[in-house]
Parts: sequence; structure tokens; C-alpha cells
Amino acid sequence: MIFDASTFTGDVTLSTDLVVVGSGAGGMAAAMAAAEKGVETLVLEGGEYVPPDEMNQREEVMFPRLFQESGGRTTADRAVKIHQGRGVGGSTLHNLNLCKRIPAGLRAEWRRAHGLSKLDEARWDALYTEVEQLLAVSAVPRGLWNKHNLLLEDGVTKLGWKGGGLSHNRTGCLGSGFCEVGCRYNAKNNAFKVLLPRALAAGAQVVSNCVAVRVVHEGGAARGIEAVAIDPRTRAPRARVTVKAARVCLSASATGTAALLLRSGVPDRSGVTGTTLRVHPAVVAAGDFDEEIRAWEGIPQTYECTEFLQLEEKGAHRAWVLPAFAHPVGVATMVPGHGGGHRALLERYPHLAVFTAMIHDLTPGTVRPRGDFGVSIDYWPDEADRAELSLGLWACAKLLFAAGARRVLVPTRVPKVLQPGDDLDWLKAMPLEKGEIDVVAVHPMSSVPMGDDPLRAPVGSDGKHHHCESLWVADGSLFPGSIGIPPQLSIYAMGLHVGRALA
Ligand SMILES: Cc1cc2nc3c(=O)[nH]c(=O)nc-3n(C[C@H](O)[C@H](O)[C@H](O)COP(=O)(O)OP(=O)(O)OC[C@H]3O[C@@H](n4cnc5c(N)ncnc54)[C@H](O)[C@@H]3O)c2cc1C
Ligand code: SF4
Repeated sequence: MIFDASTFTGDVTLSTDLVVVGSGAGGMAAAMAAAEKGVETLVLEGGEYVPPDEMNQREEVMFPRLFQESGGRTTADRAVKIHQGRGVGGSTLHNLNLCKRIPAGLRAEWRRAHGLSKLDEARWDALYTEVEQLLAVSAVPRGLWNKHNLLLEDGVTKLGWKGGGLSHNRTGCLGSGFCEVGCRYNAKNNAFKVLLPRALAAGAQVVSNCVAVRVVHEGGAARGIEAVAIDPRTRAPRARVTVKAARVCLSASATGTAALLLRSGVPDRSGVTGTTLRVHPAVVAAGDFDEEIRAWEGIPQTYECTEFLQLEEKGAHRAWVLPAFAHPVGVATMVPGHGGGHRALLERYPHLAVFTAMIHDLTPGTVRPRGDFGVSIDYWPDEADRAELSLGLWACAKLLFAAGARRVLVPTRVPKVLQPGDDLDWLKAMPLEKGEIDVVAVHPMSSVPMGDDPLRAPVGSDGKHHHCESLWVADGSLFPGSIGIPPQLSIYAMGLHVGRALA
């Protein structure tokens, strides 16, 4: 059953064996795995239950429903936009379905540095195989790539750089292009479509519009969750929800889980909780083409440029280039300028291609609780990471020109308009100061990292908290560092792993 806490007319107390906070990639996988092992499971989700027929493809309607802070979440100093989802299904409702495994070299490096004795190579590989089958992950056939992605392929080919097609978790995709505001056609093989029905069939219960505020713990063990039922529109609390549980699993994402642990005063002798956040920061450049690109149509992100992404070599480049487009409201908020200049740029909307450079970041950021419900994020890439972003911006401009752009727009505070034949090398050395250019992040991770040593990591490699009994973590918080590739596949995998370990 799925219950809507916003309909509760008074305070309630619930009892269960396992309570899972958050229903995204990690939480729903853990809940499904535990319920299928016979564990009585209750999932608390702070967002709404939004079925596909309510996904109306309108940004102004779907952003408030599917995104944290209506899509307006930023770092405390507003220098970095952090996009994260909410709703039954979490960020898998609006994500773009890219699926990749963490390269074996990076996982081996983690094992050397952090042990990870409960998640060895064979276990990772078996989990990946299972999740890829579960979500029907497959390469998107080239015949289905849209013009936007073909432009990136063209640029890569002309420059002789490395690139290739991507694999996604979609079945029955119509190529509508509205992935980022939720799929009305239920074509995403995500936590909502694939895992939720199995979890419910195994007896799990889900409570939507229910925000966990604190982990209740005493005598060194977690005992349950204090939560509130909220109004989905105003987010105002309506009733108290107390859950008594023998086991607690936090899957509120790399921001929500760290904030919950810190707000609850859960002991952590490593002192690491909330201090090792990575986000994969990204910047964009736009190309204006003579012909119409209509980048909003078709399947987003089916091709990647990996020329500057060498994840398995220490000290090598760490920038990944992809096409990235937005619907009109999103573009209008990102395009610099105002008045006539802004309008003139938006009139070129059908002719624009936008490439993004996202980096495998080494800078640690912090997450802290803000009040009873909020998170406060501090993150600004250090000099080395900013240099990778500048390199990525240069690569985007090179690729756009190679693909035939008649001008390239770099959306800095004073926008820079580049013409074919211009010297671009200065972009590589451009110092990125705060506020100089929009930095956007969609992959927060690694804020409660796993590791064998309780003095260096709060959580073990089975998701079990080192310093509080009966407490588990199953979401993107667990990565020991940045992964440099899309994280959902690995988070689903870790969710299954933790769900089975705790069962
Ligand atoms: C625009 C966009 C596109 C993306 N595209 C891709 C992609 O193509 N491929 C990929 O691999 N990844 C992609 N991602 C990232 C991916 O979706 C996430 O990394 C992944 O879903 C994170 O899983 P999670 O379980 O850690 O958290 P989430 O999936 O974010 O789930 C956390 C859930 O916890 C809930 N929650 C938080 N706090 C509380 C609380 N206190 N009480 C109750 N509930 C709470 C939230 O509402 C949310 O539903 C994308 C992300 C964005 C924003
Ligand atoms: S492109 Fe495919 S997966 Fe994305 S919203 Fe359209 S039908 Fe759904």
C-alpha cells in the first residue's frame, strides 16, 4: 500500500521491523531487497506519489513536484546549483537514464585505500549484472540519436577525439524529450516503475509526503524515526509521524542522509559524516547553428566525448563532455542578459546546441542540517578542479565549432561570443571565480563514505553504520569518492547489497 501522509488528520505512531527513509535509487532497491527477504518494511518519502499520467510535461508544474526546492537548490553561497529529485522514486523520476559501471581501476583504488571487505570485485560485478538485467539497460541504437547528439558525434569525429554511444534504462521510449520533467509514458525502467511494484508485492508499505526529521537512537542503537506529514504544496507540517523500528536505513540522498545523521547527533568517531561531499560540477557552452537543431526533441544524452576523461590514471584529465539541453523556462533562466539581448538569444532557441563539461571532482564539500527539514551545502571546486572545468569549457567550444556552429556563446557574467577561427586557448586558462559562470551539479555523492576502518569512515562496505547499531545507509552517500560517471546504476547496486545485508 502507498499512503499519503498529507491526508493524516492527527499525529500517528507506526511500528515496523525496518524503516527506510527515501525512495530513490538506493532506498527503493534496499526496501525491495529487504521486503523480498521477508522483512516487514516501511518506506518514508518526503515527496509526492506522482503517477505517469500526472507528468504533464510542463516545467512550471513538474519542477516544484519532482525537484528539491522546486529545482532552486543551491550551495549556501548560491555559487553552485544542485539539482536533486523528490517523490516516490526519488531522482530516478526525472533523471536521463544513463547507465555506466564504475571502472574497475577506480574500484580497485578504493579497495586499496578503504578496504571495502564486504564489497569485493566479484560482488560489484554480480550486482551490476543483476541491476542491468532488472532495469533492461541497453545501448541506445544510433538510429534513435537526435540531431543534438549527432552534432557531438560529428565534432568528436572531426577532431579525432574519443567518444561513443551510451546505454540507458528505457523500454517503450517514444523519444518525446521530456525525461527531465518525468516520463508521462512510463518508459523509464526506474525505481518507480520496476522496483516499487516488486517492493509492494513483497509487502512493503510506502508513506509519501512524510519528511524524516531525526533518527531516534538510544543506548548506541537506532530505534526509529521522528517524521512529519507535510502539505505537498506549501511543505508546511500537518502532523507528527513517529516510527518505531528495529532497524533504520537512511536513503535520503547524499545531502539528505548526511543532514539527518548530523541533526540527530548520531555518533561518528571518524568525524567524516557530511565533510566529503562530491557533486560532479559542470559548466556549459552553447553553439548557434544556421540550421534548426531542435535539441529538445528526441532522447537526451545518447553520445559522450571521453577524450578528457581518464578515470583510471592518476593526475590525468577528468572532464566528460555531453549534450545538455533544457526546456524553454530552463533555458531562459540560464541564458545571460536581459531585455532585447536576452530575447534575441531566445529567438535562436531552435538553432542552439548546448554541450556540458562535467568533471570527476576531487574537492570535498560539506553538508549540514538547516532547521528541521533543510540541508545546507558548502561546495566550491578547488583550483585543480576549476582548471578541469575550464578545460572542459574549451573542449565544448572546440566541439561546437568543429560541428559547424556559426558562433559559440560562453555564458559568463559578461557573456563571451566567439566566432569561428577565434583563438580558444585562453578558455583553458580562464580563472573561474564564484559568480563568473553558472556551475550546476546533478550528482551529489560521497558524503557518508564507506570504509572498513571506523576511525576513517562512518559506514562499512555493507552499509552498516560503524558507530550506531541497527542503523544502515543505502544511497549515493556511500561512495568513498567521486566516480566521474553517472551514479544511478551503482546506487541501485549498493541499495540491493545493503538491503540484503541488513535482512
Ligand atoms: C537532472 C538530473 C539528471 C540525472 N541523470 C542521470 C543519469 O542519466 N544517470 C545517472 O546515473 N544519474 C543521473 N542523475 C543522478 C541520479 O538520479 C542520482 O544520483 C540518484 O538517483 C541518487 O540516488 P539516491 O538514492 O542517492 O537519492 P535520490 O534518488 O535522490 O532519492 C532520495 C529520496 O529521498 C527523499 N528524501 C530526502 N530527504 C528526506 C527526508 N528527510 N525524509 C524523507 N524523504 C527524504 C527525497 O525526496 C528523494 O526522493 C541525474 C540527476 C538529475 C538531477
Ligand atoms: S524521451 Fe522517452 S523516457 Fe524520456 S520522457 Fe520521452 S518517452 Fe519518456
